Amino acid sequence: MPYSASRSDTRGSRFVHYIGGMRLLGSTTGALGLGAALHGHGALQSWWPLLAFTALGWPLLAWRLAAASTDPVRTEFRNLTLDAGLAGFWIAIARFDLLPAVMLAAVMAMDRTVAGGWVLARNSMLAMIGVALVTAALNGFAFEPRTQFATMLWCMPFLVLYLLAVGISARVFSDRVHARNRVLQKSSRIDAATGLANRRQLLAMAAVALKRFHRHGEMSSLLMIDIDAFKQINDGHGHLAGDRVIGEVALLLQGGLRGQDVAGRYGGDEFGVLLVGAGREAALEVAERLRERVAQRVRVQDQTVTLSIGMAELTPRMHAIEDWAEAADAALYRAKAAGRNCVRE
Ligand code: GH3
Ligand code: MG
Repeated sequence: MPYSASRSDTRGSRFVHYIGGMRLLGSTTGALGLGAALHGHGALQSWWPLLAFTALGWPLLAWRLAAASTDPVRTEFRNLTLDAGLAGFWIAIARFDLLPAVMLAAVMAMDRTVAGGWVLARNSMLAMIGVALVTAALNGFAFEPRTQFATMLWCMPFLVLYLLAVGISARVFSDRVHARNRVLQKSSRIDAATGLANRRQLLAMAAVALKRFHRHGEMSSLLMIDIDAFKQINDGHGHLAGDRVIGEVALLLQGGLRGQDVAGRYGGDEFGVLLVGAGREAALEVAERLRERVAQRVRVQDQTVTLSIGMAELTPRMHAIEDWAEAADAALYRAKAAGRNCVRE
């Protein structure tokens, strides 16, 4: 059903348990409708032991076989095809009583399409039709499709409970897929160590700002920020101390910005900050404030941690995001050359 066979073991075992549970629910409730049809045709007495086995024995056996298999998904596909053959058998034995026959055939086709795709669905349908024809031939082509009202009533548990279970599991499955997609999407935009935007995301946001500048003249500025003498921190205090410094700087950058601004980790000890709607003066002010905050608050033992910051506001000559990033990078280089712990444009 809403589950595609997959390679991993846990998925394989989840698949087996899901199909096993659904098979048991379907076979027990389905047997009620079939039993009523057989009763209506006066055939229940001779068939009930085999019907009881189909309802309970077979699903438990199939579950065990799949769970014990070295290739559970493959075994389960075989079981699903056998299920369809069994359905064909019972459809013929119940003399093609219309409601149980259509109910079983339709659910078989739906389940197998969802669980295994077209090939499984096709093979299962062929098995169902083949077994139904052979059984019908052996049964003297008994054909009594008119469904009695009692049989209709006994088909209700299957129709209601089984379809409800299919609906619920489809919902659970799609919620799970959505949650997983959200995590994947988020992790492709976020730097895992700091929780800031990663370089890709920062540049994507900067590209939007660049477009707005050329379309609407809305000014924005980019800060390129690098921790000073970070190698010394790593060498003198260890890599973990270095990581802690990166985390603290990230937190201060994030905390010192307005909602529309974006702080990102550019890589290593380098950060970028996109100041949306900020021109030169405002950007220099923000950069100076960020530099001061870090210099005042981040230390490794007694040593102050400082930042060098390069600022570039957008200019009409910048047409690609690289032009802007290079300008901010060049400004950062000037800040380093000027002795570090300062802001340059
Ligand atoms: P400068 O003032 O010129 O920037 O000198 P610097 O020592 O900071 O030089 P640079 O910026 O080139 O050094 C970056 C170092 O950061 C190099 C690399 O080993 C280290 N580094 C990169 N990523 C990480 C990280 O995630 N954690 C830690 N602890 N160190 C990192
Ligand atoms: Mg550095």
